[in-house]
Amino acid sequence: MTATIIDGKAFAAKVRAQVAEHVARLREEQGVQPGLAVVLVGEDPASQVYVASKGKQTVEVGMASFEHKLPADTSEEVLLNLIRQLNADPNVHGILVQLPLPGHLNSELVINSIDPAKDVDGFHISNVGLLGTGQKSMVPCTPLGCLMMLRDHHGSLAGMNAVVVGRSNIVGKPMAQLLLGDSCTVTIAHSRTRDLPSVCRGADILVAAVGRPEMIKGDWVKPGATVIDVGINRIERDGKTRLVGDVDFAAAATVAGAITPVPGGVGPMTIACLLANTLTACCRALALPEPK
Ligand code: NDP
Repeated sequence: MTATIIDGKAFAAKVRAQVAEHVARLREEQGVQPGLAVVLVGEDPASQVYVASKGKQTVEVGMASFEHKLPADTSEEVLLNLIRQLNADPNVHGILVQLPLPGHLNSELVINSIDPAKDVDGFHISNVGLLGTGQKSMVPCTPLGCLMMLRDHHGSLAGMNAVVVGRSNIVGKPMAQLLLGDSCTVTIAHSRTRDLPSVCRGADILVAAVGRPEMIKGDWVKPGATVIDVGINRIERDGKTRLVGDVDFAAAATVAGAITPVPGGVGPMTIACLLANTLTACCRALALPEPK
């Protein structure tokens, strides 16, 4: 194995420690405690695990955590009313509505009813537009975590060829915007891309956000490239359930210069960035200096 393993777990712990330090200072010097409200509708088991983990880590960094668990048959009116209350609550600086929502609820309407300044997931159409035009915004947590790891590893990304495989609104598109913002030459690939292996081979930075276990093979990776694997796929192997990424890690690690593992790469950075975004939202709301 030749690649440097980018340790997302350790990096996320560092980010959380920096957030905790800033939160402690805010509480001591300003008497302010950043607060994150998480809204969960229904009983999707994966969502329940994410929400519990977000609540726990929020409290661990010294922030206030407000959890709102609503039954699966909650009406849109009730949900929108709750969001209105949270928008108006000065103790709540960040609001996250856990997706996916049950089918009878209009996700776009719900997300766009969050105050953009409190939209710590960065999915509100105003934040999407601000990011797309290079203005100050709330940035989606998963791509933000990827960008932080890339900057930490490379310093400047200017001029590098970046290929993002996947064009979802929550990962692929914002990832591409962020890389463009850091002056990469960006290609976005998707299910209709022709000759994906050769497109990938052109990448100095290869970001995989597809949702297909180990789809990206070792010989798709340019020697020395940095590979960021966003995928989280549960598979059965040797009679056990395992988590694997979208990249064939064992093969890619013999070719790449650096690579994120799954688990322990992008995943832990996502919640760390959610906490960082909540802190940023709190500082902006109070016109205080933002964390770096
Ligand atoms: P989506 O399903 O919304 O998007 C997947 C994208 O991959 C689509 O743009 C699709 O193309 C593209 N795609 C699918 N098949 C192929 C193929 N054969 N060749 C090329 N492109 C293909 O997924 P998400 O963006 O939400 O998530 C992607 C992965 O990241 C998942 O494994 C998810 O679990 C994981 N994830 C991890 C997070 C973390 O915290 N680490 C957070 C969020 C997601 P098209 O548009 O043409 O259909």
